[in-house]
Amino acid sequence: MKHDFSGIGMTSARTRGRLVERLRQQGIRNEEVLAVMGNTPRHIFVDEALSHRAYDDVSLPIGLGQTISQPYIVARMVELAIGGARRDKILEVGTGCGYQTVVLAQLFKTVYSVERIAQLLERARTRLRDLRISNARLKHGDGFIGITEAAPFDAIVMAAAPTYVPDALLAQLAVGGRMVFPIGTVDQELRIIERTEDGFTDTKLEKVRFVPMLPGLA
Ligand code: SAH
Repeated sequence: MKHDFSGIGMTSARTRGRLVERLRQQGIRNEEVLAVMGNTPRHIFVDEALSHRAYDDVSLPIGLGQTISQPYIVARMVELAIGGARRDKILEVGTGCGYQTVVLAQLFKTVYSVERIAQLLERARTRLRDLRISNARLKHGDGFIGITEAAPFDAIVMAAAPTYVPDALLAQLAVGGRMVFPIGTVDQELRIIERTEDGFTDTKLEKVRFVPMLPGLA
């Protein structure tokens, strides 16, 4: 799970150190998550023209009308996702450019990631190959359906906001597992659903802003 990205031209340790410091100030407490955020080269996921902004706490365009999530929100969701019982398998909905996938690959044994836009998925595949990430399985598919053949998952994180909780994903959550996701249209909030021996618990967290989760493939 530990990855050494030193061969791919990391941005200076100082730039990455500043990102970690800012995440700390914003309330991210988990040292493991902070270390991984500081170790992950975000600049290779954004257009070269924007790479000077790669370590700022902003979302940036990745093409096809989508964005790479803000580092803070990635750290926040990942911190919540690793709070569950086990860390064998995680399902990510919305691979996008693959940045969060690489963060998750350093914290879970195997990451399954599903993306509905084929072109984005292919680009993410290339980047993950370049980074020599071997524990991520990418799939062109619809997050509303999930990945039945790989279920159950110890955690599920969604990088796009549905307007209702997808039943298929609840069914693919392991007992003791947790699903972290934004929900809503204009007014979105972050939610955690945990699966227990006898059902599900639902926790509402802060307001957030994500791209909408859309049905079907593109
Ligand atoms: N974590 C990504 C964020 C990408 S934005 C990153 O760091 O780059 C959210 C992504 O969710 C978009 O790429 C969008 O195409 C995808 N998405 C939206 N609805 C989806 C669905 N039903 N199934 C799979 N992916 C979906």
